[in-house]
Amino acid sequence: MQYDSSQRIPMSAQVTPLLGLSSGAGVMPFFQPRLLTPATGIQRNPQPRTTTSSSPTHQRQPNPLFRSIPEGIISRVEFDQYLMGYFGVQDVHTGTQTEQEEALTRHGGSTTSIPNWQSWDPGASSADYSHIIRAIEDVAETFGTIPTIRTVVFFKISYKPNATGMGVAEPGVGASFGAGRLTIYEAFSRSRAFPNARSDASGTYPAVGVVLAPATGETPGAPRPYQSREYSLRENIVHELGHGIAEDALRADPDVFTKFHRAVGWVGGQLFDIGQPAVANAILTDTLPPSQYQIQANDWNNPQWIEQPMSYYAVDDGPGEDFAEAISAFVYAPSILQQRTPNRHQFILDNIGLWTTRMRSLPQPLQRGDFPLNEEIGRMA
Ligand SMILES: [Zn+2]
Repeated sequence: MQYDSSQRIPMSAQVTPLLGLSSGAGVMPFFQPRLLTPATGIQRNPQPRTTTSSSPTHQRQPNPLFRSIPEGIISRVEFDQYLMGYFGVQDVHTGTQTEQEEALTRHGGSTTSIPNWQSWDPGASSADYSHIIRAIEDVAETFGTIPTIRTVVFFKISYKPNATGMGVAEPGVGASFGAGRLTIYEAFSRSRAFPNARSDASGTYPAVGVVLAPATGETPGAPRPYQSREYSLRENIVHELGHGIAEDALRADPDVFTKFHRAVGWVGGQLFDIGQPAVANAILTDTLPPSQYQIQANDWNNPQWIEQPMSYYAVDDGPGEDFAEAISAFVYAPSILQQRTPNRHQFILDNIGLWTTRMRSLPQPLQRGDFPLNEEIGRMA
């Protein structure tokens, strides 16, 4: 959310990809098969702490060559060190009232004030710190790189300014990303899920237990199964990292969003079913596609669409959110992404090699060893 493509970023902290992804030859060298044993140097259990660092401000510097991915409850100090040591984050902090008010203030305008402001972060120690790290690691595992993240900041609630200079709460916003800054709000673990299949006129879908309350336009399409708080949290974070990838992609290819819009059916801020030949032809000839093929937020999941969006949000909030949702689905539900919207899936496949040239490589390519290959299916139960 709140992605602003006009904000350009200095090209610091660029790292050459470890795996040589710029060939663009249609092969996917960064999609290594998942090994059943942990990769050398990757330990999933906490290692004994050492105090060999000479730095007076960091008792334990992350090992620059190998990273041990934390699980369970970790301290905020460990979280900050991991993000700065491995992800290149320069600043992790809990936001202040002044900071949030100033961020809301329009340039040159009077200061926006937020009544009853409260501070929030996950605490001195929390398993949520591990979950956030894991979400970023999931992106690393999928793409071989992560987006450029300069700052991570915690606030309790998102606000937007109203006309009288007061902050109005947006309690439904879980996180946002803009100009290298990942902002995490208390609502970041709110439930979410993608549909569990391609929507089909027969209405027959894989069995699910608990489903989320249907979103607007969800029926009669494929249902969204309940998934755990942890998986919802991770998907929310990876959605935001999708905005981060968008920023890096824009630096690698200034035309990336023009290409994305044309590839998936966005014309003038409206989405059309690119699976319809008449829509594809209209886009090729720069004419307006037939209106009967316009996909609206209130029928986003209708089986009639050939090219099916991944969520209400992806349609209702425009192509920037559509892109972030597609990235999140590529990480956590790639087969469903491919089945529902092959054009989005293929667009990422065709372009990620270029985007990663402006993304950040990690010290050691990660191969997860101790999770079943059908994790994506298993977690939906
Ligand atoms: Zn977003």
